[in-house]
Amino acid sequence: MKKIIAVAACFAVLFSVHVFVQALPAFNFDSETAIYEEEKAADLIPEPRKMVAITFDDGPTDITIQILNDLAKYNARATFFVLGNRLERFPETTQRIVNEGHQIGNHSFSHKRLNRISVQTMKNELDLANEAIFKATGVKPTIMRAPYGEHDKNVLEAAAARGMAVIKWNIDSIDWQPGTAVGNITQRALKNVQAGDIILLHDLYPETGVASAIIIKELTDRGFELVTVDELIEYYSTEMEPGAVYISGVKKFSVADGVDFDEWYESNR
Ligand SMILES: [Zn+2]
Repeated sequence: MKKIIAVAACFAVLFSVHVFVQALPAFNFDSETAIYEEEKAADLIPEPRKMVAITFDDGPTDITIQILNDLAKYNARATFFVLGNRLERFPETTQRIVNEGHQIGNHSFSHKRLNRISVQTMKNELDLANEAIFKATGVKPTIMRAPYGEHDKNVLEAAAARGMAVIKWNIDSIDWQPGTAVGNITQRALKNVQAGDIILLHDLYPETGVASAIIIKELTDRGFELVTVDELIEYYSTEMEPGAVYISGVKKFSVADGVDFDEWYESNR
């Protein structure tokens, strides 16, 4: 009997030790693994990227060359809404826009107010500009910006039929106002800038050329990635919708939503 008790006691002790030895390291190992797995997962989730799209209207001009040089210096990208009737005077600059990774968009052929001319003339303005852009660069534009940002339902339909989205902006540098100083342009462009924004500038004024260099450097220093409109919309809104109006990477108006554009714009600007 004594022998049986001794053997049982031995088993009991061995079993307890076994359980203890098994349980303790197993617990530590599991929790360490869990922490490690968590850290690994956090590494895999990419940091949200801070993207901004700088856009230039009314070029190309001599100022465009200066801006392209500054963009190259910071490995930054921008979007140029060009006028069709200017491209023949600046064939090399137009080529550079595309060759250096920037996006080229349609800003009409001769800067007419597209909502105040006949529908046929408006369509001609878009087609002539697209033909000039294609001839100069081999690119078929997927975006347009109406002169003065003025477009009506006919313009949106014409854009949709041509596979183009309509791009506005949510930050206006107001560089077109006569007498605007470089400091005003940079301040307006940079004051409230956030990820997803579209900034409006014109590669037409010497002040804008100077201001652009400062804006490009400052945005880069603040950790923004300067990207094309295409990239911005793809990142923040998924696929670009022809005929829709984008005022930023995240705010989009679509005719299909059945809302009046002016009404929508007032509540979303
Ligand atoms: Zn313009």
